[in-house]
Amino acid sequence: MENNYKKLTEEIRGFAFELLKDGKVDRVIGYGKEEYSGEVTPLFITAPDESNRLIFNSECSMLLAKYLLNYRESRVAIVAKPCDTRAIASYLAENLLKRENLVIIGINGCPGITGNTACIECTVRNPVIFDFTAGEAIDKAELSPRVANELEEMTAAERLAYFQEEFSRCIRCYACREACYVCYCEECFTDSNQPFWVGGSVKLKDNFTFHLMRSMHMAGRCINCGACEMACPEGIDVRALPAKLTRVARELYNYEAGMDPEQKTLLTDYDVNDPQPGFLD
Ligand code: SF4
Ligand code: SF4
Ligand code: SF4
Repeated sequence: MENNYKKLTEEIRGFAFELLKDGKVDRVIGYGKEEYSGEVTPLFITAPDESNRLIFNSECSMLLAKYLLNYRESRVAIVAKPCDTRAIASYLAENLLKRENLVIIGINGCPGITGNTACIECTVRNPVIFDFTAGEAIDKAELSPRVANELEEMTAAERLAYFQEEFSRCIRCYACREACYVCYCEECFTDSNQPFWVGGSVKLKDNFTFHLMRSMHMAGRCINCGACEMACPEGIDVRALPAKLTRVARELYNYEAGMDPEQKTLLTDYDVNDPQPGFLD
């Protein structure tokens, strides 16, 4: 399943050059290298000659889809890993973007990102929505994702101890929130003082409230991209709770977020026959 990064980069540059040269888009959002540190960062280009600054490699960890929300009224092309395409499909399903303004350059057969544990579990390695693709598509049958079930096997007391230890390290920097495509509210509940939901301290109870409430907002929306975990400076298992809710949505409602721009969102698609474990039964 190895895609050649040099070839992927060349293909991406070619698409970007043509799109900008023909005036089909106003800008291209992709990945580039920071001039001095060499670090991979998001890159925004508007001229065809800048296309040779675009790259793709195993360090392209940021989910670029969220930047599309800043350019809703212009025509934008985006380099999109399969998880980015799932975020874009979700935005389209939530009527946050106009499809006609978007050109999606999808990465086929995504080889994964260095250090991202979500990639080890990832089963969606081809774009779910695209206009062009770079790289070779991969057959799902070739994948052998690791199924994370260590937490499921713990007792409730062990799980509580696990999360107490994890969340006690949280410094409330909100890098996880900023990295997550779902967190686009103009005012996050964490910043609101009317109503007041959660204290801003790093006491365990406030940290727990933050993570539990954020996870509930993720219910049926998390695409398991791992961007939150990659962004956390404390190495906290931020993805565990949203990932659990994703498994619940899959098992109970056969629902997977971001697979189809036409799909209704989980919480807006109510059916009287929906299973309702824990209440009303
Ligand atoms: S989560 Fe999947 S699609 Fe996203 S970077 Fe990792 S392997 Fe690629
Ligand atoms: S909560 Fe889910 S969708 Fe959001 S960054 Fe983490 S893994 Fe990705
Ligand atoms: S990124 Fe890590 S330390 Fe910062 S708020 Fe999120 S979990 Fe806490």
